[in-house]
Parts: sequence; structure tokens; C-alpha cells
Amino acid sequence: MERMRELVEILNRWAYEYYVLDDPSVPDREYDRLYDELRELERETGVVLPDSPTRRVGGEPIKGFERHAHIARLYSLDKAVTEDELSAFFTRVQKAGEATYTVEYKYDGLTVCLTYEGGAFVRATTRGNGIEGEDVTAQALTVPSFPLTISYMGTLEVRGEAIIRLSALEKFNTAHPDEPLKNARNAAAGAIRNLDPKVTKSRSPEILFYDINYMSDSPVSSQTEAMEFLRREGFKTFPFFRHCKDREEVFAAVEEIEVGRRKLDVLTDGAVIKVNEEAIRADMGATDKFPRWAIAYKFEAEEAESTVRRVFWQVGRTGKLTPLAEIEPVELAGATVRRATLNNYGDLTRKDVKEGSRVLVRRSNEVIPEILGAVSHVEGSVPVEKPVVCPYCGSAVRETGANLFCTNQDCPPRIVQRLTHYCSKNAADVEGMSEMTLQLLYEKRGVRRFSDLYRLTAEDFGGLDGFKEKKIGNLLAAIEESKRIPLERFLYAIGIDGIGRVAARDLAAFGSVEAIAALGFEELVALEDIGEVTANSILAFFADEENRAELARLYEAGVTPTANVRKTEGIFSGENVVLTGSLGTMSRTEAQKLIEARGGVCQSAVSGKTTLVIAGEKAGSKLEKARALGIRVIGEAEFAEMLRP
Ligand SMILES: [Zn+2]
Repeated sequence: MERMRELVEILNRWAYEYYVLDDPSVPDREYDRLYDELRELERETGVVLPDSPTRRVGGEPIKGFERHAHIARLYSLDKAVTEDELSAFFTRVQKAGEATYTVEYKYDGLTVCLTYEGGAFVRATTRGNGIEGEDVTAQALTVPSFPLTISYMGTLEVRGEAIIRLSALEKFNTAHPDEPLKNARNAAAGAIRNLDPKVTKSRSPEILFYDINYMSDSPVSSQTEAMEFLRREGFKTFPFFRHCKDREEVFAAVEEIEVGRRKLDVLTDGAVIKVNEEAIRADMGATDKFPRWAIAYKFEAEEAESTVRRVFWQVGRTGKLTPLAEIEPVELAGATVRRATLNNYGDLTRKDVKEGSRVLVRRSNEVIPEILGAVSHVEGSVPVEKPVVCPYCGSAVRETGANLFCTNQDCPPRIVQRLTHYCSKNAADVEGMSEMTLQLLYEKRGVRRFSDLYRLTAEDFGGLDGFKEKKIGNLLAAIEESKRIPLERFLYAIGIDGIGRVAARDLAAFGSVEAIAALGFEELVALEDIGEVTANSILAFFADEENRAELARLYEAGVTPTANVRKTEGIFSGENVVLTGSLGTMSRTEAQKLIEARGGVCQSAVSGKTTLVIAGEKAGSKLEKARALGIRVIGEAEFAEMLRP
């Protein structure tokens, strides 16, 4: 028995050196010799120690996966694909408190959750729907990158990603030329979610650990502590991990990943940014689907080289001049690309793009492809001149930071772009109203304001090219239909600078355009997704006389923005409630639903309108602010009392 204990310990140490540290200290045959000796002893005695490496074989094929509930919910992450969305994330975090950040690789594999009790591994499950997943214990046991026993004695759930290294994939495919695995992501998921553990083993997946999902005793207080804990207990973690103090450092770390990832043996398609401090995480909470304190930044995928033919300028609805390059047609992710954007004048000069340059083009997630930079210049490359007047209307150009703006509110392309935005799907959603039609209506029928759309008749369309009776009828019906518009879409449609769909939704909670127009600076910046610049542009918008007149014309035409608030009566009627900290008996989302079902309105941040704050454990800055404002604060017990029928 003593010899068995000794063998298990030696073998586990060697396995740890080999699989976790990638630094073997003995040749394979030495490992095999002791392994065989241990197997022999186990056969003789009929005893298998709980952390014996022979338990790693995984056993016989199983009939099906059993479902198993996670102790704490395994959230997936909200995604950002643009730097704007990333900025919105930082704005939200800053409102919650003084946070630092961690940056990690976003792996492209299958998420698994390992449970330990009393120091021993008991179970592995897939993420599944986040609440329950499939039991893949037998499959996970064939993976040697985690310990079977640990020193922590409480109940623990750790989280990792099952991946297959690109080299392992290649090796497998060389050995199985008849049935090659198509890509590393599917191969990893297929390996873990295979009923036969032998198949799992043959594909040599690894699990890389990156988080703690649940800890019963002395939980860690930050992501950096969680990583230290994982490494200390013998879990394989990924070497790249950055602790950043501000957003500049985060951007630098993200760039480091983006540049370095091509040389890696592990598939990654982005970076994961998390708030490091547990206390701030608890304060920020989660939406229905995602934690608010973490975000996955996905890299844009496809790139190709091409040559710039010429650069021209486009004017958008804010008046911003965007340089657009006409390029030699190039295939990019299954589409032929002929144009690529350079974002703004500063971008053009910084990337040193000239007419005739060879450039690297990247397909963005939603907009037109972007020029990443000049690869080389050829003889005869011509620098792009900086416009001194607007190329469309000849008005003076104003330079603000990296951007150039046409100073003329009535610059023709601005008007058409404003109208196009107003009619777009997420705004007034005037179905069938294209930019080209709006261009025609502007040129031939003098349509300039949103309200002009509502005075159009069949006769107005009659003389225009390509407009038959049916098309006219459909367009007029769509315009009519757009009068009944949800408030949040209306706020987005009217084009207040800086108001995207997210901020519009936040504002819509105030119930009416008038209520929003009456908000002050402090109340605006207290909202989750609104910073100082946007707050000022909202104030400026409603202070503008022409804007107010246009709103009046829209109402006059019958446009009725409606907030979808359900009026319910209950103990929270008339209360504007903010939840902070974590509640012991329910999630914040559940608490929110209970409050709303009893007539209350839930807010994301404490403002002058807040009437009640419910403070759970580890309540942070929101609680301090509530106290400073003299708002009534209650604890969880009193909250539970109010919920009682
Ligand atoms: Zn202009």
C-alpha cells in the first residue's frame, strides 16, 4: 500500500510536469514502467487510490449523457465587435467603481465545468444552457491537464475550455487520412461530447482553465486570485494573462493577442476582458444572459491585399467626411470587395494610404471593409489631399480631432443620410424606403425633414421613375405604419449625436420624449450607457429650437412614440428601485421581475429619481451614492418582508 501511494505521487508529479508545465523531467518509458507497476499492484490488492492515474482511462462507452445542474450559473459572455461597443463597456464599469481589468485569450472550443468536493474531483459537465449541462466525467478523465485531488476541501466548480491544439489536429489527421477532422473547434467539442471515452482520448484534447465558477469556503476576491488559485492547485492555465489598470492597458493587451495569435498552436478568435474585483462584479450583476462585468472582444476575421485606385469622400448624417477607397476588386470571405473605408482623415494619414498603394483590407463585422494599413507604395503613388471645403456643397470644413466635418446642416448628402437613418429598420422602420428613393424624394420633391415624409401623397411619387401603383401603395402604407413607433426606436431615429440603440433603450425607460427632454446633466450621466459627451449632446438637441419645432411637426402629423410600460399595482407602486450587491436567496434578475410584478420600476443606477435602494452583500458605490442622496435603503430581510403576500 505504501508503495502504491508512492507510485501515485511520483506519476502524478511527472504527469503534471509533462501536461501542465510542458516540461517533462523523465523519458516516457520511465513513466510507463512505474505506471505498469502501479497497475499490477492495483490488480493484486483490488484497491485503486482516489488520485491514481489509472483512473484517467475513462472506462467503457456510455449510452447517453446525463444532465447535471451547475451549482452556480455558467454565464456566456456578451460580445463586442467594435471599439465603440468596448467603450460602452468601460463606461458601464467606471460607473460601478474603481475597477482594474484582466485580459485573457478567448478560446474557440467547448466550455467545461469541473466539480470538486472534499479535495477530490467528482464530476465534469459541459456548459449546456448555463443552468445544466451534460455529464462528461468519463470523457474528461482521459484529459491529463487537471488534478484528481486538490488541497482545497470545500465545494468547488472550476471552469475551463476544452481545446485541441492545431498540431494535435494535424497529427490526428495524418494518422487518420480517411476521416480527417475539419477544424479544431468542432474536433474539441466532438471529442468531449463523444459517448466513447476512447474516441475522446484518441483526439488528445486539453482543458485550459481560466475561472472559478463557485467556491463554498473563503471564495477568492478577484480574477488574479482565481488564476493563482488554479495554478497553485495544479490546473493547466494559459500562459497569457494580463492585469491592466485602465482601458489603455487593456487595448494594448488586446492588440498583443491580436498580433500574437497567428503564431499560436491554440485557436483563438478574440480576447476576454473582465473586471478583476469581485466586489465590483457583484455590484454590476448580470442581465438575463450575460454578466455585466465581462465582455468578449471578437477579432474581425478576413483580410486580403489590394491596390487603391482612388480615394473619395463621403458625407454622413453628422456631417463627418469619411474617406472611402475604391480598390482593385478582391475576394474576401466569399464576396467581391470593391470599396474599403478609412474611418476618418486622421486614420488615412496615420495609415499612410496613398492612391496607388498596396493595402491590407479587412472585412469588418457589419460595415464596409476597412483598410488596415499600407503594405507598400509604388512609384507614382499619390498622397490624398485634405479637403478644405466640402466636396458636395463647398462649405467650409471643420477639423475636430481626427475628423473633418462639413459645417453645413443642409449639405445634400447629410440630409439624405439623416432620412435614410430615420427610415432604417431599427429606427422608424419604413419598409421598402431605400437610400436611392430618399435621394430622389429629396431632389425632386424637396423632402428634407422627417416630417416631410408624412405629407407625401400618391401624386408625389407618380412622376418618379420606376414607381408603379403597387410600389407607391406599399411605401405610403409603410410610412403610415411608422407613425406608431416604440419610444426607444423613435429616440434612435431622430439622430441625437451619440445615441445608439442601447442608450435609446435606457432613455426610453423615462416614458416619454418630454420626460427625457426635462432631464438634467446629472440625471443623464447617471444612466448606464451615457457618458458626459452624450449627455451634453442630448441637452443640446432638446435646447435647439428647430429640433423642438420638428418634434412638434412630427406629433402634428400623427407620429406617436410609445413607451411600452406595463402598469401593475403593488407594494412597489411609485417606487424607482435600484438593486446593489448580491442577494442570498435570488439573482438580481429574479428580484427585478418580482419588483416589477409588484408595480415598481427598476433602474440600473442611482439617480435623483431613485426612491429605494435594496442593498445585498458587498454593496458598493451605488449604496454610498444612495446614502449621500438620502435615499431610503433596505436590506435583504426587509425586502423579503415586502415580497410576502
Ligand atoms: Zn457639405
